[in-house]
Amino acid sequence: MGRRVDQLRLPLSIAIGALVAFLFLGCGDPYVSPTLAATEAPLVRVRLGSVRRSAELLIEKQGWRAQSVAGKAFNSSGARGLRTKLGVGARGILFEGRETGSTLLVVKPSRTFQLDGATYAGVLRIRVHKGKLECVNELDLETYTAGVIGNEVGPKGAPSTYRAQAVAARTYAWMKITAPGADERSFHLYDTAASQVYRGMSPRYGVPYDAMVRFTRANTGVILTWNARPFRAYYSSTCGGHTTDHRTSRLDPGHAGDVLQGVPCRWCKTSKYFSWPAHVVTDAELVSTLKRIKQPVSMPIHRVRVKERGRGGWVRTAEVIYGAGRKTKTLSGPELRTALGVRSHNIQTIKRITGGFQVSGRGWGHGVGMCQWGAIEMGKAGASESEILRYYYPGIALRKVY
Ligand SMILES: [Zn+2]
Repeated sequence: MGRRVDQLRLPLSIAIGALVAFLFLGCGDPYVSPTLAATEAPLVRVRLGSVRRSAELLIEKQGWRAQSVAGKAFNSSGARGLRTKLGVGARGILFEGRETGSTLLVVKPSRTFQLDGATYAGVLRIRVHKGKLECVNELDLETYTAGVIGNEVGPKGAPSTYRAQAVAARTYAWMKITAPGADERSFHLYDTAASQVYRGMSPRYGVPYDAMVRFTRANTGVILTWNARPFRAYYSSTCGGHTTDHRTSRLDPGHAGDVLQGVPCRWCKTSKYFSWPAHVVTDAELVSTLKRIKQPVSMPIHRVRVKERGRGGWVRTAEVIYGAGRKTKTLSGPELRTALGVRSHNIQTIKRITGGFQVSGRGWGHGVGMCQWGAIEMGKAGASESEILRYYYPGIALRKVY
């Protein structure tokens, strides 16, 4: 017996040693690249707004430099600021009223720049994409995180809510930066809820930016891990009493499926989206929305019914019975949410009324991972950021990567 243990011990210690080396050096690990696990915050690229024909760029009372990275060589600089309308000409980006011939221009202000009324740190990368402008802010992950958390939490968070949101937002972005092929992409994240809401140094709802910087600095470089690897730290506004599993919301959990299974939440009752007033959708609206999301049905609509529910009662699949032949269209929970025009697929009842359906339900968002309103109330009740994060992401560890 003893011998067998000894025989086992050596290979195990080698295995542990190899694992430690693996984690610290990051060799071969697709999630932790050796350079990123080192000394400083990595750079992140965020697309500002949508691809557009023109944009107003303002750099106030400071030095700046603009340099072409692709297309014809172009160089320009100034010492006392810049106000220019960016556009696209026949041969590339229009800058200060000039045809630059450049298809990728990097503008470096000595401090900050303004675009569409918001102020940003870092640099602005302007690219021609399908004849339009794509404006991308490149900056370090910490400054980016500080520019996210105020918009994501709103003005009502406790300090620990913002600090928890900083860890979740940083982890979410980290996964995008380190994803395969990320270096080749012109940007990693949108500045909307499609990724995380980012407004540079001008957070929404009158939230003070300086405070957001302080909350972010309280846990610089800390990300969430599961089995020693970072994972997709999803979160959404209000769960309505129970978060749900990734499968029900059709979100890819990566290796952390165990973490994203859904937990009961008694914290978000104070949210105005905890339950929503009955919502009415007409048959005609249903047909037109389902056509738009490429799940077409035809009149008449006979029935809409929930087929299967996931964790917390969230709708996993639903059926629409339609047409002369009473055909069946199967929808995912998120598709049903879109089709009915409601805030979540935590849908309680779908009642037939004349010419349409009356829908009742709870929550706002996809319901996977941290419930942000729950994090606000937990924070107010005295929970630390670690307690909030461990509650909504059971079994995780917090790891400082720089
Ligand atoms: Zn909740």
